[in-house]
Amino acid sequence: MDKLQCISITEMHLSEAMELCTSSGEHSYRGKQMLSWIYDKGATQFSQMSDIPTSFRERLAATYQVFQSKIFTINTSHDGTEKFLIQLPDNNFIECVLLRDGKRKTVCVSTQVGCAMDCKFCASGILGLKRNLNTGEIIEQVLHIKNHLPSSEHITNIVFMGIGEPLANYENVIKAVRIINADWGLGIGARNITISTVGIIPGIRRLSKEGLKVNLAISLHAPNDTVRDKIVPSNKKTGLKNIIDAAQEYFNATHRDISFEYTIINGINDSIQDAHSLAQMLKGVQCNVNILPLNPIKEYSLAPPSQKKAEMFCTILNNHGIVATVRQKKGSKVNAACGQLRLQTQR
Ligand code: SAH
Repeated sequence: MDKLQCISITEMHLSEAMELCTSSGEHSYRGKQMLSWIYDKGATQFSQMSDIPTSFRERLAATYQVFQSKIFTINTSHDGTEKFLIQLPDNNFIECVLLRDGKRKTVCVSTQVGCAMDCKFCASGILGLKRNLNTGEIIEQVLHIKNHLPSSEHITNIVFMGIGEPLANYENVIKAVRIINADWGLGIGARNITISTVGIIPGIRRLSKEGLKVNLAISLHAPNDTVRDKIVPSNKKTGLKNIIDAAQEYFNATHRDISFEYTIINGINDSIQDAHSLAQMLKGVQCNVNILPLNPIKEYSLAPPSQKKAEMFCTILNNHGIVATVRQKKGSKVNAACGQLRLQTQR
């Protein structure tokens, strides 16, 4: 069968894998066995699943595949960050990143090939949106990294902060979250899973009703609509007030603090007044702010402010009683800012 049309097992929820087995005349527990080979034992081929009858493995391999994507390159940074360029069956590329911080090993996954949001400092949107990733393509990013890690290291956290807008690919992302979270899947707790969004209001509302209690991060980047309209084009339709209201709703439904991401850019959103306005806007919202110094990309003539200025911005927020941190740039040497590596390769 053409591998492009071939369904991969990483697409499947346990119930679907069990259903696949019973509809093939096998016992449903074979479905559980199959997924355990993938999620616990690192299998990437049916032929490795030695306690499943050979005849069934052969029948499976004729119609299905375990993985649909493969690792194309791995770039390693001196700080332990590893960036994986993943090749998809249609020859598109996406990226996922492993970030190491002591015991915490975070995998940052992509959700789309490209991005339609066109934020004015981000490499992911430069070639526009090509397509959504399916659930399996999202899950495989985590599995590729899991299978690459030495047995002494375990993935502890997942962030949906790679290429694409997760809430614009809602169903595939939520199914992936359920597989990442499931005991039979990757077994990572909802508290250690973060979905980052530019601020798609219907998506945030829907997410608050999923009963998932994952962390929600919102990419704010501006203290008012005038600035945000310039750097985040989707803001013209949405507006900051609606985003803050939706964030509040998410908090009310889940009791999970909201994270606001603030990519700080020299001369654009880094003034003392901007810090005070931001604090004013976030007053009363149960949240924390991550200040991310811009990782400059050559297509845009923007730069990060000095470290001192970023810290001053942070201190002003702290003085207003807001929990805020300046995040260290990790992996900038391996082009770990969203979409940089893919952009170079795809071109
Ligand atoms: N579309 C989602 C998730 C992907 S972007 C979102 O907007 O949240 C993940 C985070 O990386 C966002 O906060 C984004 O603004 C930030 N980012 C993208 N390019 C960057 C760059 N060049 N430097 C610093 N942060 C960047």
